Amino acid sequence: MDLGIRGRRAVVCAASRGLGRGCAEALAAAGVDLVVNARGAEALARTAEAIRSAHGVQVTEVAADITTEDGRAAVLEAAGAVDILVTNAGGPPPGLWSDWDRADFIAALDANLLTPVALMQALLPGMMERGWGRVVNITSGSVKAPIPQLGLSNTARAGLTGFVAGTARQVAGRGVSINNLLPGIHATDRADALDGAVVRAQGITLEEARARRAATIPAGRYGTAEEFGAACAFLCSAHAGFIVGQNIVLDGGAINATI
Ligand code: NAP
Repeated sequence: MDLGIRGRRAVVCAASRGLGRGCAEALAAAGVDLVVNARGAEALARTAEAIRSAHGVQVTEVAADITTEDGRAAVLEAAGAVDILVTNAGGPPPGLWSDWDRADFIAALDANLLTPVALMQALLPGMMERGWGRVVNITSGSVKAPIPQLGLSNTARAGLTGFVAGTARQVAGRGVSINNLLPGIHATDRADALDGAVVRAQGITLEEARARRAATIPAGRYGTAEEFGAACAFLCSAHAGFIVGQNIVLDGGAINATI
């Protein structure tokens, strides 16, 4: 299917690896020029070069912490008048509800709520003026079904979900669609970090931790960054203008719910 976005421009945050990279690759495959971001400059440069040579699109790298004001300013300056925004950042650390103090909550809210809100506030006006735009926020399945050890994530991402629910309906009439993608477990470094915590807590091997988690998923496996990216690219496509304010779960059926 032609996604109808060849020649459009996108910002993809936190995209040197994992789900962000999957989104960047899929958009590039559809002919979208990119501004990609991550903190580590070397890995980001390698990813940008791989995308350029695989897809022949323009890729601008901005090595910066997207959760800081300076980092966002650098990304926004490189972005200019973009058509597509994919927000993403690292997820908060796991722990117990009683572990976290105010500073921990503020850090999680900064990364996973206030950063995507600030990026949308900066880029939505231009999209609305030009009459076309797409925003995809990478959130988490924890929005729909809380993950007890990820209380910081549950909290911050629920806030973003509320913001998007109202805002998406305020901008849809100007040709701008905002939606959230809710990943369940995907085979990325983040999954390794979460499985690593299980290894330490239960004294099992990483392979055992992965196998046990995979056995809880109806699809019987972890998701891939490639299939996540394909879903993102569709939500950014010319065909997705009537999909507004949705929370789409990509989890192999792990959340046991009728709707
Ligand atoms: P990942 O494989 O660890 O990749 C994270 C990417 O984000 C890297 O490119 C990293 O590069 C970049 N990054 C992290 N913090 C950043 C920051 N402050 N500023 C700019 N770039 C930053 O993680 P992932 O699995 O793709 O996860 C992406 C998001 O989805 C996370 O919020 C995660 O919590 C959420 N999620 C993932 C899963 C899963 O199973 N994978 C499930 C549910 C939710 P640098 O380190 O160089 O900055």
